[in-house]
Amino acid sequence: MQVIVKENEEKKSLGHVCQSCGNTVDKLYQNDFCKICLSMVFKRLIKVIDSVRK
Ligand SMILES: [Zn+2]
Repeated sequence: MQVIVKENEEKKSLGHVCQSCGNTVDKLYQNDFCKICLSMVFKRLIKVIDSVRK
């Protein structure tokens, strides 16, 4: 009897869950955000900073 190891499926389960969008990504950044969500946060911050300066 052979034991079949499904390596691909095990690798899929590895990763980190983004706290913003819930996607599983290889790497998380600040506040457990993925790269996409973090860039969205930065865009919002830039808008706020600009509105304060004006
Ligand atoms: Zn995300």
